[in-house]
Amino acid sequence: MSGRGSRGSGGLPDLVVVGAGTMGAWTAFWANRAGLRTTLVDAWGAGHPRATSGDETRIIRSSYGDDALYARWSRAALAHWRRFGEEWGEPLFRPVGTLWLGHRPDGFEAASLATLRSEGIPVEQVAVDEARARWPQVAFEDDAYVLFEPEAGALMARQGTAAVARAFEREGGAFELSPARPGQAKDGRLLDVVLGDGRRLGAGAFVFAAGPWLPRVFPEVLGELIRVTKQDVFFFGPAGGDASFGPDRLPTWVDYDAAFYGVPAIDARGAKLAPDRYGPVFDPSAGERIVDPDSTRLARAYAARRFPALAAQPIVETRVCQYEMTPDAHFILDRHPDLANAWIAGGGSGHAFKHGPRIGEYLVGRLQGAPVGPGEERFSVGTKRVDDATLRTGADAMASGWQGY
Ligand SMILES: Cc1cc2nc3c(=O)[nH]c(=O)nc-3n(C[C@H](O)[C@H](O)[C@H](O)COP(=O)(O)OP(=O)(O)OC[C@H]3O[C@@H](n4cnc5c(N)ncnc54)[C@H](O)[C@@H]3O)c2cc1C
Repeated sequence: MSGRGSRGSGGLPDLVVVGAGTMGAWTAFWANRAGLRTTLVDAWGAGHPRATSGDETRIIRSSYGDDALYARWSRAALAHWRRFGEEWGEPLFRPVGTLWLGHRPDGFEAASLATLRSEGIPVEQVAVDEARARWPQVAFEDDAYVLFEPEAGALMARQGTAAVARAFEREGGAFELSPARPGQAKDGRLLDVVLGDGRRLGAGAFVFAAGPWLPRVFPEVLGELIRVTKQDVFFFGPAGGDASFGPDRLPTWVDYDAAFYGVPAIDARGAKLAPDRYGPVFDPSAGERIVDPDSTRLARAYAARRFPALAAQPIVETRVCQYEMTPDAHFILDRHPDLANAWIAGGGSGHAFKHGPRIGEYLVGRLQGAPVGPGEERFSVGTKRVDDATLRTGADAMASGWQGY
């Protein structure tokens, strides 16, 4: 589609985006910049605590095993996060690097090393002795396989999401605080969405970027494709005077095969650590955001083993988030199968936050007629998806029931 040039002249928007998480906020932002008169609708606002984008921080890394497309998307997204964070005067990206705590020489990390090198993305393989000297707060196994991505790091998630939505509004986009559901359809096209107070909002096209709520918005299309699970996150408070978990000393880190990851104590909020196993099915609207004793036990055991100085330290904050998993952990970025002007953006599967700027760019391109590029068929609704989340977390750890820690 192309803008109808109706900006400022009243009338219907060209585009309505439902959902102001990282996917929807960036889509609205780019659509508005592309000249589409755009309204962004969210039931609770951008970066609220129920949204998957509503946590404090997210890791941005380029390592994706042998998958070069996500490595490229991550780099493209990083450039936008950096640029706009600087432009808006908010340090949304924290350049702390990402440390990969590998357990074998032929695993995800080794595949990532090869991919990043061939893509020209900075990465270092670090010998264990050197790793111990550089990051003395981390307990490395003698046979650890360690990688470091020096240009990776952390994104300020809820702050960043809100910043994108604010920039969209500053640049002339319209924001509506309301739930919205698909309204009337005619001849294979959606005519409008219905807002919470019953008003109908029509548009030329619609993007539904409703994160974990997507299976409710389109149950017939997405009910079986996206599974929403509870994910518990912990912040450990270092001992008084211990600066070794701060962002100038500890990178973001991923223990892929053990399925744990973490973020340094940014803004003194505590060292973040989370088990990456799937929690129970979760209701993103009504679910209580209280962590389970079982994940607390897992997090504590891992912290004690990996970061000895945290072993006796308290958990000072917790978060409950949710994954919206597709079977193969690839996103869904596609046209609705029955509605030619309605698009679906979701299935973040535990790794989409960083890609928000690139996802938005991609969707606006597709809306304007760009074809599906090589490798991008993975994002289609109709693609055959096999159960496999290994682009985020090691299969063995997922299968083992987390008994190792
Ligand atoms: C614990 C955890 C750790 C993660 N770690 C990382 C990481 O390190 N790196 C990374 O890149 N990714 C990570 N992710 C994944 C990433 O956070 C998500 O993939 C991403 O935030 C999803 O964004 P979204 O825009 O699709 O959904 P959301 O952020 O959930 O946004 C959806 C929005 O839609 C709105 N909405 C829904 N339904 C309606 C409706 N009917 N009407 C109006 N508004 C509606 C909601 O209010 C919400 O604001 C992690 C996720 C979790 C849970």
